[in-house]
This record gives sequence, C-alpha cells and structure tokens, in this order.
Amino acid sequence: MKNVVLLGPPGAGKGTIAARVAQKAGLLHLSTGDLLRDEVARGTELGKRVQGIMARGELVPDELVLALVRERADGRRGVLLDGFPRTLAQAEGLAQFLPLDAVVYLAVGKDEVVRRLGSRRVCSSCGAVYNLLTQPPKESGRCDRCGGALVQRPDDAPEVVARRYEVYERDSRPLVDHYRRLGLLRTVDAARDPEAVAADVLKVLGS
Ligand code: ADP
Ligand code: ZN
Repeated sequence: MKNVVLLGPPGAGKGTIAARVAQKAGLLHLSTGDLLRDEVARGTELGKRVQGIMARGELVPDELVLALVRERADGRRGVLLDGFPRTLAQAEGLAQFLPLDAVVYLAVGKDEVVRRLGSRRVCSSCGAVYNLLTQPPKESGRCDRCGGALVQRPDDAPEVVARRYEVYERDSRPLVDHYRRLGLLRTVDAARDPEAVAADVLKVLGS
C-alpha cells in the first residue's frame, strides 16, 4: 500500500480525483479541507479558530493542520493526502511520521481554476459537489442525492478565489520543486474531465 500526496492549485480537482482514486486503489482519503470544514460545521474549538481564516482564503497554521493529519495517518500505510501538505513546513512535519511513495501534481492553469471554482456548488446537507457548467444537478439548486439546497462555498466567492490562488503560488507552489528534487513527483494534466484524470493518476501510481 502506497502513501500518496495529491498536489495542485485550488480548483485542480483534488477532492474529486482523490475520492475516485482512493476508492479504486483502496487508500484512505484524507482531505484537510474537508476535515477543517467539518470542525467549522460542528462548531468545535478548532472550528471557531479556523473559520475566519478559511473564509478569507488564507492558510490555517501549520501546527493545527499537522496535528489533524498526524492523528489519523501516523504510522499507517495506504493514505491519500488531499490538500496537505501546503507549505514546506508541513512537508517537513509530515516526513517525521509518514514515508511517501509518490506525489502526484495535478497541473492546470489559472484561468481554468478560476472558471471552475466560480461555477462550483456544494450540497448544504450531504456535501456532494456539483459544477454548473460541467456537472449540473438534475433540478436547479437541489442536490440529486438528498434534495438538499446547493450553495457556494464562502471561499469560492471571486475575491477569495483570487486570494487563494496567490497563497497557492506563494506557499504551496514551492512544494512542486521540493518533491521533484526528492524524485517523488509525477505530473498529470488535470485540465480534462475527472475520469480521464483519475485514470492517469491510477496509471502513474501503478495500480
Ligand atoms: P482548495 O484546495 O480548493 O483551496 P481545500 O478544501 O483543500 O480547498 O481547502 C480549503 C481551505 O482550508 C484553504 O483555503 C485553507 O484555509 C484551509 N486548509 C486546507 N488544507 C490546509 C492545509 N494543509 N494547511 C493550511 N490550511 C489548509
Ligand atoms: Zn445532498
């Protein structure tokens, strides 16, 4: 069982691809974005601390995210990390408790991610993800799975998307070179439909 990191800008499709790949390859899917949004939704101490940070499109402090991941991944095999690490400090922290077998970089340009995030909608009850352009719900504004209301994530508002992209360029882009130097990086063209991208990720992972 491999330990794998999915890297890429916001809107690269990390969540969608990770869910598919994890299911097919039998890996544990850990999304720090989902874990943090769950803390916010449940109104925990951590959730209260990070809510404003996330709404502004800034990064949650490294030690908080590291603790969240460590709790679930320490010493395990077969983990697929989505949205983590996002800084060099997080990568160094991760290396202390989880050996990596591969880092898959989902490459996609800025114009495409801005377009995708602007048209993303999520179900307010079950969390299912839609895209008004490419994966619209059957009935406008309603979740196909549970009938819940579809909403825009607060951090998908246009001003916040621009900020998230800047933060990605500044803090997370350096990870691409970091993992390339370690010989772990595999690049996949993510400007295609999710099935094609997921198939390529599975191919580069050899599963
Ligand atoms: P995206 O990759 O589309 O930006 P995520 O769901 O991965 O969306 O993350 C949403 C937000 O959660 C981020 O903008 C950030 O505030 C917070 N977050 C998620 N993962 C991390 C992380 N590894 N380090 C710091 N903050 C994080
Ligand atoms: Zn739903």
